[in-house]
Amino acid sequence: MLVGVRVLRTETELREAGIAGCVLVPTMGALHEGHLALIRQGVALSRAEGSPGGCVVSIFVNPTQFNDPRDFDRYPRDAARDLALCEGAGVDAVFQPAPEVVYPPGVEVPVPALPPVATRPGLEDAHRPGHFEGVCQVVRRLFELVRPGVAVFGEKDWQQLLVIGSMVEAEGLPIRIEPGPTVREADGLAMSSRNALLDPDARVRAGSLWAALRAAGGVGRPEEAERAMRRVLDEAGLETEYAVVRDAWTLEAYRAGEGRALVAAWAGGVRLIDNAPWPRAGD
Ligand code: AMP
Repeated sequence: MLVGVRVLRTETELREAGIAGCVLVPTMGALHEGHLALIRQGVALSRAEGSPGGCVVSIFVNPTQFNDPRDFDRYPRDAARDLALCEGAGVDAVFQPAPEVVYPPGVEVPVPALPPVATRPGLEDAHRPGHFEGVCQVVRRLFELVRPGVAVFGEKDWQQLLVIGSMVEAEGLPIRIEPGPTVREADGLAMSSRNALLDPDARVRAGSLWAALRAAGGVGRPEEAERAMRRVLDEAGLETEYAVVRDAWTLEAYRAGEGRALVAAWAGGVRLIDNAPWPRAGD
């Protein structure tokens, strides 16, 4: 397929393109409407702020953040389609590096010190050991290569969003992190590249993650909300990893103020996560 969007693959090409200061939207490809909403947000932001380099999308399936190698192997990939979608969304360049550009042989790419929100909550940190080490490593490295002024991350991965924000602050990086709202299917299922792996039966049952978050909304106490979420997931035959209400910003136990309901569950061999504001969950 002939594609017109500018594709950058190496550090030299990045430097020559002069995109430092751009708005970066990091992805692992297999782009769906959720990614495209973030990308459109990035394009609009770069235009509004006159960002040098405009909006750049990175596409890289990062091996170091997969705690299960089979998950990495079967992760959906469709480079030609991704480039066409980026072009259609008006991005200025796509950074699509080979693994050896991100992790040059013989070079130790450092893993930044993990902030407490990446180690204490017992959520993704506990259920995907090594995941946030890999995420922080690759995001830090992408920032070093691309040198964005702004980076857009989805609220879909709420703990990740907080982890990246904390890492940027701790490292004193001159990068603003912009959150983007979660885009959902008609039944409320959060869009995810992994949804393509759901068989028809699991796809129907996967809608219960959103149903669980909605069931938690308006329930007065965190423990009751957590029980309500588990009930919905159990009834749908999903295997729940966690269904909790936490402080929205620290992910520690909820006391007062803004909370977040967060769920992780397996549907037909596919691990899904979602979250929503609490007690307004499901707005
Ligand atoms: P991924 O390709 O899964 O690493 O995701 C790339 C970015 O897209 C991350 O910042 C995700 O949080 C974000 N994202 C994934 N799914 C959605 C969604 N359904 N709505 C909005 N953003 C999303």
